[in-house]
Amino acid sequence: MPIVYLVIPCYNEEKVLPETNRRLTEKLRGMVQAGMADEQSRILYVDDGSRDKTWELIRAYHEADPMVRGVKLAHNRGHQNALLAGLMTAMKDCDCAISMDADLQDDVDAIDQFVAKFLEGCDVVYGVRNKRDTDTAFKRCTAEGFYKFMKFLGADIVFNHADYRLMSRRALEGLSEYREVNLFLRGIVPLIGYRSDYVYYDRHERFAGESKYPLKKMLSFAMDGVTSFSVKPLKMISNLGMLISVLSVLGLIYALISYFTHNAVAGWTAIVSSIWLLGGLEMLCLGVVGTYIGKIYSEVKARPRFRIEENLGETDKSA
Ligand code: UDP
Ligand code: MG
Repeated sequence: MPIVYLVIPCYNEEKVLPETNRRLTEKLRGMVQAGMADEQSRILYVDDGSRDKTWELIRAYHEADPMVRGVKLAHNRGHQNALLAGLMTAMKDCDCAISMDADLQDDVDAIDQFVAKFLEGCDVVYGVRNKRDTDTAFKRCTAEGFYKFMKFLGADIVFNHADYRLMSRRALEGLSEYREVNLFLRGIVPLIGYRSDYVYYDRHERFAGESKYPLKKMLSFAMDGVTSFSVKPLKMISNLGMLISVLSVLGLIYALISYFTHNAVAGWTAIVSSIWLLGGLEMLCLGVVGTYIGKIYSEVKARPRFRIEENLGETDKSA
């Protein structure tokens, strides 16, 4: 039986936490009794520097029930970092960890399917939303547009998958090798590799409290996703520069024709053609510089370049 950890980042969640804790402990206890999870399984709350009573609640739950654990971050570091902190804490003690939001938007009953897939041998199981009708039309459009844009930019992310997922211990160990500071877990997890599968679930409305992702945070999250996983925007500058340089030749021809047909004011031809040409060249150069910066960027991130999944004939020296 696997030791299952449920990792829940919480930021000012005092309103929903009592209900969340009630449902999760009930769920996990049920799984232990049904023989689906080991007795060592835990719920791990990560308090992301909340300013309300979240941590007091977590502490009380822990004291009342050994099935609940908690870690407290020294200050608010954002959802992704809080989640990472939780996963790295869980990694040491679990066989698999499931991350979910504190607000009960992710269907708690899907956990069984996650664990079932894990037992079938999957290292990563992605929770994918069936439909988004509980989100506002605005959130739905922006979110789906974002997934499509990321795909276009060449980042391998799972459509309509947020951070509701299961990771095995070795997938977590893989994750721990990614040392980047601009963390965008949805993009990194597929890079870890290993066998993966999907679980489909209905996304509910937030149980209580309000979203901790206002538009501003959402935008910067999306920006982070794009700039952490793609250097395509830099290439686009190069391409644009190239295009403008080519257009400048046409502009030059047009300017010369105007000059010879005496339709141009004196001096106009030289000014117009040089503006185009220089603009294009400048952008092209910027793009070239950008391409090198892009390379430096990926070198600095020092992501692991490969991961061995199986090694036949390996001699175990530790034994
Ligand atoms: N969260 C966090 N730190 C933050 C913001 C959010 O740990 O700075 C947590 C929050 O408590 C919740 C999860 O991240 O468990 C998702 O946040 P939320 O539900 O507000 O986002 P939404 O579902 O509206 O996108
Ligand atoms: Mg939410």
